[in-house]
Amino acid sequence: LVETHARRPTRLLAILRAVQARYFHIPNQAIRLLSKELNIPTTRIIGVIEFYSFLHLTPRGRYDILISDSITDHMLGKHNLMDYLSNKLSVSPGSVREDGLVSLDNTSCTGMCDQGPAGLINGHAITRLDRPRIDAIAQLIDEQMAVEDWPKEFFEVGDNIYQSDLLLSSRLTAGEGLQSTFARGLKETLSEIDQSGLRGRGGAGFKTAMKWRFCAEESEQERYVVCNADEGEPGTFKDRVLLNSYADHVFEGMTICAALIGAKRGFLYLRGEYLHLYHKLENVLEQRRQNGLLGNNILGKGLDFDIEICLGAGAYICGEESALIESLEGKCGIPRNRPPYPVSQGYLNKPTVVNNVETFAATANIALHGGAWFAAKGTEKSQGTKILSISGDCARPGIYEYPFGVTIRKILEDCDAHDVLGVQIGGPSGTFISNQELDRILGFEDLATGGSFIVFNSTRNILDIVRNFTDFFAHESCGFCTPCRVGTSLLKKQLDKIVDGHGSAGDVVALEELTRLVKNHSHCGLGQTAANPIIHTLERYPDLYQSQLKKISYEPGFDLNASLETARRMANRNDAGAHLAQVEE
Ligand code: SF4
Repeated sequence: LVETHARRPTRLLAILRAVQARYFHIPNQAIRLLSKELNIPTTRIIGVIEFYSFLHLTPRGRYDILISDSITDHMLGKHNLMDYLSNKLSVSPGSVREDGLVSLDNTSCTGMCDQGPAGLINGHAITRLDRPRIDAIAQLIDEQMAVEDWPKEFFEVGDNIYQSDLLLSSRLTAGEGLQSTFARGLKETLSEIDQSGLRGRGGAGFKTAMKWRFCAEESEQERYVVCNADEGEPGTFKDRVLLNSYADHVFEGMTICAALIGAKRGFLYLRGEYLHLYHKLENVLEQRRQNGLLGNNILGKGLDFDIEICLGAGAYICGEESALIESLEGKCGIPRNRPPYPVSQGYLNKPTVVNNVETFAATANIALHGGAWFAAKGTEKSQGTKILSISGDCARPGIYEYPFGVTIRKILEDCDAHDVLGVQIGGPSGTFISNQELDRILGFEDLATGGSFIVFNSTRNILDIVRNFTDFFAHESCGFCTPCRVGTSLLKKQLDKIVDGHGSAGDVVALEELTRLVKNHSHCGLGQTAANPIIHTLERYPDLYQSQLKKISYEPGFDLNASLETARRMANRNDAGAHLAQVEE
C-alpha cells in the first residue's frame, strides 16, 4: 500500500482510507508500520485519524451506516427513519452491534439534499431512504451481501438540473478551451478572464484573474493548481453535478490555469462523501491523458501538467482553502495563519492557486468564448452566472443556474415553492432572509452565496432550524482556537436552554454577547460565521426568542429543585425550606 503511494507522507489520508476499508478501523499495528515506513510519528498519525470523522481507531461494523443530519434530511423525515432503521437493525445510533456486523451513526450533510433522506453505506452514497428501502437494506445486511452487489437503484444519484444558463448549457468539448488559450496566447487569455469579471464561486468572491496573476508573479517556480471540491456547506451539491456531468470543463479549467501560472501538478480535493464519483473522474482524467490533454507536452505546446484526485475523509473545515492544503499534505485540516496566502505559500509552501469547481468550469468556457461573453450576464458588480443547489420546501429541488441579479422571488417561483417562511442563502454560514425580503437579489452586492439555497415554508419552526445549524458548527469546529471550540459549544448550550424553555430575560442578552465573541475572535471563517444563524434570526424574529423565555429574572439550564433530591434524602429533610422554587414575576 505504501509503495502504491510512492512512500509519500502527503498520501497519508489516502493510505489510512485504504487501511480502514480493509479492516473497518485503523489497527495499532498499521499505525506503527505506517509510522516506520512513512517516517511520521505515531502521535501525528493518531491525531490525523482522530481529526477526520470517517477514520476510526476502534472497529466499525462491516456495514457502516451513516445517516445525514442535514436540516433538509430532517425535513424529509430523517428522525423517524433513523428510529426505524435503528430498531430494524437492532443497533442504536452511535454504536456498533454486538456481533460487529453493523454500525450506525449520524453524519453531517452528505450533499444529497435534493434526493434525501440520504446516507452513506461503507462510504457509498445512498439516496431516497424510506421504510421499504430500509427493510430491503436490513435484509441485505442479514444475508451479508456485499454492498457492491446491492441493487444499483439504491445508489443512484441524479443531477436534477432544472435551469441552465451559460455554464450548464455549454457544449464545450474536451480540449476546446485549451486550444483557444494557446491560439489566443496565455497573457491574452488571462486578460479575457480578467474582463469576464469572474470572481471565486466558493463564496468568498476573490477575483480569479487577480489570484492567478499573483501566483504567476511569484519568484518560486514550483507551483500548484488545486480544485476545491470539498463542498460541505449543508444544502450545497452543485459541485457534485458539475463533477458528474461537466468534469471535462473542470479539468480543462485547471489545465488552463496551469498553463497561465506555470504549474506542473494539480489536485482535485474531492469530499469523501462523493466517493461514488471517484472512478468516474479517474476515467475522465485517463481519457484526457490519452487525448494529449494531460501529461507531457499537452497539445504539442510544451505544457507538462497532470492532475491527482485526493479524497477527503469527513471534515467540513477542509473546505477552507488553507485547511484543505494541510489535508492534501496528509495532515489534520487545521486552517493556517494568513498571510501568507496560498498564492505565495500554499501546497508544500509553494505558490498555489486554489479555486472552486464552478470557478474552473467557468474559466474553461471563458477561454473558449471570451470574457465579454461571460460579462454580458449578471450585474455591474457581479458578472456572469451562479449555479445554485436548491433544496427544502419546494416541488423541484435540484440545480439552477441564473445570471447574478435575479431576485429570490423569481427563484422561488421557478422551483415551485409556496407559503415561504424564509430562505437560507449560502448555507448555515450564509444569510437567513424572511419572506419580507424576497425582492433582494443574488449577487456579491446583496446576497452572496457559494450555492446553497434552502427553502422553508410556514410549517417549519425557525428555532429548530437554528438549532440544527448551531449543532452543525459545534460538531464541525476543528478545535484549534478557543473562541470557536468553546464558543460554538456554548452557543449550542445557550440556545438549547432558551429553546427548551429554561431561558429567562438575561439569557438572550448572554446569547447575543456570545455571538459577538465567537464572530469577532475566531481564527477562520467557520468560527467567524458560526453564529450567523442565531444573529440573523435574532434580528428578524426577536419576539420568537422572547416568547420562549420564562417571566423570571433567572432560570438555570436544568431543574434545580429536582437536582437537590439526593441532598434532601441524605439530610432526611423534605420541608419547605429544603425546596427551591422560582418565583414568576
Ligand atoms: Fe478551527 Fe473554528 Fe478556530 Fe476555524 S475558527 S480554526 S474551525 S476552531
